[in-house]
Amino acid sequence: MTLAARHILIIGGGFSGMSAAIELRKRQIDVDLVESDAGWRSYGAGISLNGATLRAFRTLGILEAFLEHGSATDGVELRLPHGPTATTLPTPRLAGPDVPGGGAILRPVLARILADATRASGTDVRLGCTFTTIDQHADEIEVAFTDGSRRRYDLVIGADGLHSAVRHAVIPDAPTPRYVGQAVWRAVLPKPPEVATATMWLGPQVKPGVNPVSKTEMYLFITEPRPTNDHVDEMDFVSHVQRLLDGFPAPELRAIRAQIGPSSRIVFRPIEMLLVPQSWFRARVVLIGDAVHATTPHLAAGACIGIEDALVLAEELDRDVPIGDALETFQQRRWERCRMVVENSARLGEIAVTGGDKNEHAQIMRESLMALAQPI
Ligand SMILES: Cc1cc2nc3c(=O)[nH]c(=O)nc-3n(C[C@H](O)[C@H](O)[C@H](O)COP(=O)(O)OP(=O)(O)OC[C@H]3O[C@@H](n4cnc5c(N)ncnc54)[C@H](O)[C@@H]3O)c2cc1C
Repeated sequence: MTLAARHILIIGGGFSGMSAAIELRKRQIDVDLVESDAGWRSYGAGISLNGATLRAFRTLGILEAFLEHGSATDGVELRLPHGPTATTLPTPRLAGPDVPGGGAILRPVLARILADATRASGTDVRLGCTFTTIDQHADEIEVAFTDGSRRRYDLVIGADGLHSAVRHAVIPDAPTPRYVGQAVWRAVLPKPPEVATATMWLGPQVKPGVNPVSKTEMYLFITEPRPTNDHVDEMDFVSHVQRLLDGFPAPELRAIRAQIGPSSRIVFRPIEMLLVPQSWFRARVVLIGDAVHATTPHLAAGACIGIEDALVLAEELDRDVPIGDALETFQQRRWERCRMVVENSARLGEIAVTGGDKNEHAQIMRESLMALAQPI
């Protein structure tokens, strides 16, 4: 099979960029990856993963490592603020009949699994390095790097996240990230035996939830309406999280509240979103992941759609067609699914902030999960 691109540069070593490297190396393509963070760190507490993400892990070849180091469970329990279960959302088993339909893992653990697989794939990884210029020529692309080197490629993949410098360089008129009036708090806590799967409590505006990330730990997440994106002093993190849980008499949340302390690894993150209109490529540079579609966390599908971008792009580049045709087909296959996630997730956030219609919330949730279950 003739490949349109023999030598590819990936800029950004997050979940999307690492997944692209792994998939392209399976097709014997030479891959360089530059990551600006010299420590290749991943920040944050846990990350929730739906069945489509576990299906993508199976394709990538990291499902076994995930099952060993993370937590896979079935169903999402929705509870009332004082404790009783309102409903349980089913999570179809998309990664196979033997693999639960969802799960979670600590972010740094998932990043390490993907980084190990990226290195094992034979990708040339340069840390603490990024591009300075990207020059597109008719049949190749020339990139200069901060380490003083210059290299030529058939294709450059920008996977450098929400504040993408690649996007700025090649699509300067793209929209910029928008603050949505909500923030999310996350913390890591010991997992009590009664927390068996993803569980959320439906407060009128503040929505806490927990998800096991391993056999012994779980992460807590709380979405909070915050009309303006004000700084919160780290000294206030513990008392702020405790205050957010005050309106929840559910016994499990009372117990969680009592455990929150300085060692709870609390992370605060104002929520921003971005959907760059089509097309996500210019000649021989294509953007994937949060660089073009950063979703709010309400569907827990941001990592999913970034990783899927990588799988689909590698498939399309593995055909005997010109690069432009491969990128066009990639775009067609990805647009509707990513648009659906970003827009539906944003609407779920709006409903939460305004205390809006619970039936609409439930319907969007159901429809989105059904759409995500479709093959990519
Ligand atoms: C609060 C919050 C909670 C979330 N919860 C979930 C969840 O539960 N489930 C889920 O599926 N998704 C969730 N998401 C979304 C998910 O985290 C992102 O969609 C995903 O991490 C995007 O991966 P990415 O590789 O595209 O970008 P990033 O993770 O941003 O990675 C980009 C990488 O590029 C590097 N980089 C940046 N600039 C440059 C440069 N110029 N040169 C070289 N390297 C560069 C960065 O250091 C980074 O390593 C959440 C997001 C937020 C904000």
